[in-house]
Amino acid sequence: MPDQNPPPAEDRRFWLQAIIDSSNLGTWEWNVQTGEVRVNERWAGMLGYRLDELQPVSIEAWRALAHPEDLLHCETALEAHFQGDTEFYHCDARMRHRDDSWIWIRGHGRVVTRSDDGQPEWMAGSHVEITDIRKTKADLRAALAESQALARQLDLVQSIGRLGYWRGSLVTGELYWSDVVYEIFGVDKATFTPSVEAFKAAVHPDDLPAVEASERRADETGLHDVVHRIIRPGGEIRWVHELADMHPRGDQRILLGTVRDVTEQKELEQRLRRLSNTDALTGLYSRRYFIEQLEEAFTDFRATGTPASVIMLDFDHFKSINDRYGHAAGDLVLQFGTRCITEHIRTSDIPARLGGEEFAVLLPEADQVVTVRLARDITAAIAGLDLSATGTDLSTSITCGIATFRPDDEGINDVMKRADRALYQGKAAGRNQVISAD
Ligand code: GH3
Ligand code: MG
Ligand code: MG
Repeated sequence: MPDQNPPPAEDRRFWLQAIIDSSNLGTWEWNVQTGEVRVNERWAGMLGYRLDELQPVSIEAWRALAHPEDLLHCETALEAHFQGDTEFYHCDARMRHRDDSWIWIRGHGRVVTRSDDGQPEWMAGSHVEITDIRKTKADLRAALAESQALARQLDLVQSIGRLGYWRGSLVTGELYWSDVVYEIFGVDKATFTPSVEAFKAAVHPDDLPAVEASERRADETGLHDVVHRIIRPGGEIRWVHELADMHPRGDQRILLGTVRDVTEQKELEQRLRRLSNTDALTGLYSRRYFIEQLEEAFTDFRATGTPASVIMLDFDHFKSINDRYGHAAGDLVLQFGTRCITEHIRTSDIPARLGGEEFAVLLPEADQVVTVRLARDITAAIAGLDLSATGTDLSTSITCGIATFRPDDEGINDVMKRADRALYQGKAAGRNQVISAD
């Protein structure tokens, strides 16, 4: 606390000194003509000296202490001010501290007197130390450069791995996509604005329930994990795998995740599955797959009453074909017969080779009348097959047994047995015909 009364306001010298001292300002006065320099104690203190250690200060002494790399732009700023191009002189420069480190000084100044011929004479100004500010700025610049380099690396890694990154809010519907996500969805970053709504519009309608179920699961488990189809603007369908973490923020539901195009993987998977479920000679489904599908249809029938029928079919006197023309010719006849079957059925039907020259077709949602008509068409087509391409004068025929699910069926064995019995009846009745059990 000051122990005396403050000097009156008119004592400008006192108050000016007080302001300079309290601002921690180094001050300087420089005679541009003679090179004489007067500085205050703080000016010297910034550099680690007492004022008396630096006396006499000259402009040469200042030049000697300033960093050579900073001298030039300070001289340029001075020259511009001397010429009257700038109202004030400003310059940031490094100066050598007594401890040999470089400190940053910001100088401000102004010409206060000129000689008669208009040349600058006395100039006055201040020094402030800004080492901390410069360092913070440099650290920020370095951190920014590093984070930009990291972001570039991340982009590169993502594009090599075909991995997209996204961040969406299930509350506000906002969605951010990295570049790879745009590529996966086949849209142009310049014209397409991602949003949760726009994303869902691209999801295959059949897969939307699975995507939304996974979002709800994420509220509980924290993990969103779903493989689904998307439809690109041109209509192309792609498979994607979304893997995301739920990050709740207040009442926000933020999902942070990745998306990968798994179309090729999915196609390979499907091809392998088809292969393992199909018969090598005819390309029809295996007995195992047929039974699985029949079980499914039966469960559906039990739950909803949706009908389904089975055609069992067996080539007639096939043994004699093998005996007369050889096994290879027999194989060809089976392949021709197969084509006849597949040409007559719907894509939702399941044609299978149960074994040997015995086949079956599962017809979901088909009743007995429809099935009998179809079996007759197939039987007639096979009987009328032109087999001259096999190099023989062969003809062949099949016999079909048909059964349809019944409410009192306990399982698929019941319907299989009925179809089998009908087939046996057809054989006994002279072959090349269709018998329905129901
Ligand atoms: P049916 O009219 O009573 O059915 O007489 P079938 O001769 O067809 O009946 P059977 O079951 O006695 O004989 C089936 C024959 O089918 C026996 C076997 O040589 C032949 N066969 C089974 N699988 C194949 C095959 O993959 N290729 C060939 N070429 N022949 C097969
Ligand atoms: Mg046979
Ligand atoms: Mg047989």
